[in-house]
Amino acid sequence: MTSSDLFDLSGRIAVVTGAGSGIGRATATLLASAGAAVLCADIDEEPVKETAKIVESGGGTALARRVDVAERAEVTEMIEAASREWGRIDIACNIAGIMHQSMVVDTEEVDLDRVMAVNLKGVFFGCQEAARRMIEQRSGSIVNMVSSAIDAPAPGIVCYAMAKAAVTQLTKTLAVETGKFGVRVNAVAPGFVITGMTSRHFRLDDGSMDADRREAVVSAMAKMAPLRRVGEPDDIAGAVLYLVSDAAGFVTGQTIRVNGGVSMP
Ligand code: NAP
Repeated sequence: MTSSDLFDLSGRIAVVTGAGSGIGRATATLLASAGAAVLCADIDEEPVKETAKIVESGGGTALARRVDVAERAEVTEMIEAASREWGRIDIACNIAGIMHQSMVVDTEEVDLDRVMAVNLKGVFFGCQEAARRMIEQRSGSIVNMVSSAIDAPAPGIVCYAMAKAAVTQLTKTLAVETGKFGVRVNAVAPGFVITGMTSRHFRLDDGSMDADRREAVVSAMAKMAPLRRVGEPDDIAGAVLYLVSDAAGFVTGQTIRVNGGVSMP
């Protein structure tokens, strides 16, 4: 096998959630450039249509779909839509996520519930629907997006960190349950990547960016990493491509940390 054969996704069908922005958009476009047809899903309709346009303008195949991953029926319908359009599903990337900041003692139940609904139950539904079809097919690869927060406790992100830690366990459990059917399940744990999610650190109340604050945050984050830089969405997409490709054919139940070396558990 050649290196290009190993990473070739021609003829494979992928579903990517969170595809309207950041890591999800980078993943959808990279998988499409490797040959996969990609159903791009996001809660925001216009950005996800834009992602599909980017894929198509690069010669790839994509469909755009508005989905709230916290709604089971919408996740079921998303997976069915990919099967209806292309007849199967080979790759499921559960990337959609939200952040909520509050200390444990100040956290409101409504905020805890929403983070769990999107970051944990949304991934659970995505895994469940994809795995059911992949088990029938006797093949498939699922990648869940977790975070460095699974290793390094930080103040103020308890809801997010708890959900991501739970998804790490979901990933291992599903890998154990589906391995005998030829289905692989892995996770990627990014470090700090500049995206819509992390720009909250330097976004002003009117939505504009504070350039000085951005520089200060990025350089502080970069200093914490042995590689002395923050991540780009493409850094994370590259790890997803590896995991869903034949190059990772003997890899399941793993969490790959793509974080510049910030944590090395
Ligand atoms: P992002 O740019 O905010 O992208 C996340 C996308 O998911 C957004 O388009 C978001 O829409 C969408 N989304 C939110 N709730 C959804 C829902 N219920 N159903 C469907 N889509 C929904 O953030 P990102 O940094 O690329 O994050 C992607 C993933 O990487 C997340 O799981 C995140 O936790 C993880 N991650 C990111 C970092 C980082 O440093 N950026 C680090 C570790 C892990 P809205 O914009 O409307 O919310």
